[in-house]
Amino acid sequence: MSDAAQSAQTPPTQVCISRKPGGSDALGSPFPSGEAKTACIRTFGCQMNVHDSDRMRRMILDAGYAEVHSYEEADLVILNTCYVRENAVDRVRGHLGELSHLKRKGRLKKVALTGCIGSSDESRDLQHQYGIDLVLGTHNTYELAEFVGLPTMRETYTPDLPGMEGEHSAFVTIMTGCNYQCSYCVVPSVRGRMICRPLDNVVEEVEGLVRSGTGYVTLLGQTVDAWRHEGKRFCDLLEQVANVAPRVWFTTSHPSNMEDRTLRLIGEKGTIVKRLHLPVQSGSDRMLRVMHRGYKAERYRRKIEVFREAVPDGTLSTDIIVGHPGESEEDHEQTLKLVNDCAFDSAYIFKFSPRGGTEAAGLGGTVPPEVVQRRFLEVLRAVEHNAFTRNQRKVGSVEDVYVRHGSTEDGKAIGETWSGHAVHVRADVARPGDYVRVRIDAAGPHVLYAGEPIA
Ligand code: SAM
Ligand code: SF4
Repeated sequence: MSDAAQSAQTPPTQVCISRKPGGSDALGSPFPSGEAKTACIRTFGCQMNVHDSDRMRRMILDAGYAEVHSYEEADLVILNTCYVRENAVDRVRGHLGELSHLKRKGRLKKVALTGCIGSSDESRDLQHQYGIDLVLGTHNTYELAEFVGLPTMRETYTPDLPGMEGEHSAFVTIMTGCNYQCSYCVVPSVRGRMICRPLDNVVEEVEGLVRSGTGYVTLLGQTVDAWRHEGKRFCDLLEQVANVAPRVWFTTSHPSNMEDRTLRLIGEKGTIVKRLHLPVQSGSDRMLRVMHRGYKAERYRRKIEVFREAVPDGTLSTDIIVGHPGESEEDHEQTLKLVNDCAFDSAYIFKFSPRGGTEAAGLGGTVPPEVVQRRFLEVLRAVEHNAFTRNQRKVGSVEDVYVRHGSTEDGKAIGETWSGHAVHVRADVARPGDYVRVRIDAAGPHVLYAGEPIA
C-alpha cells in the first residue's frame, strides 16, 4: 500500500513535445540543420505543477519542438517535480537514474529538473549526483526559455506566461506561495510567501481562454481562498470569473480563509462546479494546534454545515494526515469521528512524511509504522464507506456530464457532473470538452457509472 491514497485517482501527467527542423539553442550543441529535436516533460505532484508544465510546454513549443512519448525518443527531458513527501523525491531519483543511464549511452542530451525539488537545498546534491544540466525552482521557471533558445524572459511575481490556449480546460493561477507555517509542510520554503495576482489580470486571462475555446477554468493556488487584492477578496474574484467562464472550479482552499459567502456563491452560481476541496488534516484540536492549522475541528464542522445547506447536491473532499508526530489513539478517534460527521465524498489520505527543514521533522513522538498503517486503513475505510453511501443516492438521476479525459483502460471516458462527481461514460459518445446527458446506472465508492446517453 502506498503512503497516500485518494478516493478519486488522478492519472500521472506527461507532456511531451518536439521541435521542428533546424535552429540552435542553449543545449550546448546546435542541432544540425534539418534534424528534428525532441523533448519530454514529466510532471509530478499537484495541479500547480501541472499548470507550470503547461507554461514550460508553451516555451518549448515556441522554441520549435515537437512531441515524443518516451525518454528514449527525447533530446531534452524536463522533470517537473514535487517535494511534499519523501516518496516523491524517491520517485524522482528513480527517473534521474534512468535518465543519466540514457545520457551515458548518448541517447539523451540534456536533463532539466524543475519545480519544488528544484527550489530545495537537496537539488544541489541531485544535480551533482546525476549530472543534471539545468535546475530551476518554482520562481524562475521562466529561465527555461533562454535554455531552449528563446529570448530571455523576465518574470516578476506572477506567471506572465498563460497556460495553453485552445484547450478544452485550463488552469489559471491566481496566487502563488503560502503565508501559513504548517508544522509538516515544505510549501512555504519552496514556493515562498503568498503573492496575489490583480483581479483584472485574472479576468482578462480567463476571457482570452474562453475566446480560444476553453470551456472549463480551474483557479489555482496553495490557499486559493486566501486571495485578496486592493480590497477585493476571493469571493469577488470567483464571482467575476464565474460571470465570464462557462464552467469554473477552484483548489486548494484553507478552512481559515473560507468565507460563508463563498460557500453560498457555489450554490447560487450556475457556472461553478458544486465541489469543495477543503483540507482538514486532523479531527483533533490538539493535533490541529500542533500542526499550526489555525482552526478547531468545530469551526471546520460549521463550515461544512454551511456548505451542505447552501449546496445540498454538492460534493466535499479533504486531505488528512495520519501519524503526525505525537498523534495519539484519541486524536485518531477524533479524526474518524470528524470523517463520519462530515461524510466526505472523497479524501486524499497521507501518512506523515518528515520533510527536512519543517518543524514536525524535529518533533518527538514518532508514531510506529504499523500503527500509522492501521490508522491509514481505518480512515480510508471510513471515507470509502461514506462515499459509497452518498454515491448510491445518485443512482437513477439524470446528469449533464462534462467529459474531462478520453478513454480509460476499459474504454470509458471520465467525466464530471455539476455536483463534482466523477462519472465513467461511454468513450465513443463524447470527446473531452463535450457535455453528454446520461442516467446514472450504478455507483462505487470512487465513481458513478453512466448508462446510455439520453437524447
Ligand atoms: N495548501 C493545502 C492546505 O493547506 O491544505 C495543501 C497543500 S499540500 C501540497 C497537499 C497535502 O499534502 C496537504 O494537505 C497535506 O495533507 C499533505 N502533506 C503535506 N506535507 C505533508 C507531509 N510532510 N507528510 C504527509 N502529508 C503531507
Ligand atoms: Fe502547506 Fe499549510 Fe500552506 Fe497548505 S496552508 S501549503 S499545508 S503550509
